[in-house]
Amino acid sequence: MSFKNKPRKRAYHRAVSIDHSLYVWAGHHNKLPAVHDSAEKRRITSYIQHFTLSTGQWITRGTTGTPPLGIIGYCCTAINGVLHYFGGECGHDDCYHNSITQLNTISLQWRELEPTDATRPVMRRSSSGMISFEHDEVDHLLMIGGGGSKPAVQLPHYKYAESQRLKGLWCTNEHSIYNISSRKWSNPSIIGQCIPPAYDFIIEKINNTRAVLFGGVETDDDDTVTNNIYILEISISTVSWQCSV
Ligand SMILES: [Zn+2]
Repeated sequence: MSFKNKPRKRAYHRAVSIDHSLYVWAGHHNKLPAVHDSAEKRRITSYIQHFTLSTGQWITRGTTGTPPLGIIGYCCTAINGVLHYFGGECGHDDCYHNSITQLNTISLQWRELEPTDATRPVMRRSSSGMISFEHDEVDHLLMIGGGGSKPAVQLPHYKYAESQRLKGLWCTNEHSIYNISSRKWSNPSIIGQCIPPAYDFIIEKINNTRAVLFGGVETDDDDTVTNNIYILEISISTVSWQCSV
C-alpha cells in the first residue's frame, strides 16, 4: 500500500487515533523555527495531518485559533473527538510549557484552557505521560512525570532531580490531575512503588481506572533506560502503583 501526501519527516510528536483515523501535529522537524513564538511558527503549527485508514490517504488540514507553543514532546490524548495537548518543549533554549489546549477535530478550532504559567505548581515539562479518566461523569486528565525546566515549586509528595547526563534538564515523577469541567488542578497521593523521576515512557489505559506504564528513562542515580512495567489504579485522590519487574 502506498500512502498519498505523506507528512513531513519529524520526531518527538504524538499520533492519536480517533475512529479509524490518526491525527499528527507538530513535533521536531528542520523547518520549525527555533523561537518561542513567531508568525512563521504559528503558520506551520496551524496545520494538522489527518490519516484515514480506509482510504490510506493523508490530508493536511488547516486549523483556526491559536495552537500551543509546546511543539516537541508534548502529550496528547483524545476525549470524544477532542484532542487535548499538555506541555511540551518550545524548541529553543530550555523553554518548556504546562499549558492545556484543546483541538476539536470537527471544527478544527484550537481552544486554550490553560496558558503556560511558571508559577503554577505543575512542572513545565515534556516527554511526560498523559491519560484521561472519568470521575462523576466529568473528564479529567492525569499527567505523570517528564523532563523540563527547573520547577518553580517542588510539591512535597513527588521527586525532582536534575539529570546526570543532560545538565539543566530537570526530571520528575509529579502527578497532576486537571478537571476539564471546573478547570481545577489537583495532586493525587501516591500509594505503593511509584516510578522515580522519569521521562519518555509509554502509558496506556486499560480501562477507566487502570493503566499500564512501560519503559522510559528513569533518573534515580543515573539516567537509565528501563523495561520496568507498572500497573496503575487511578482514583480522583490517589494513584496506586504496582511494579512488576
Ligand atoms: Zn519558548
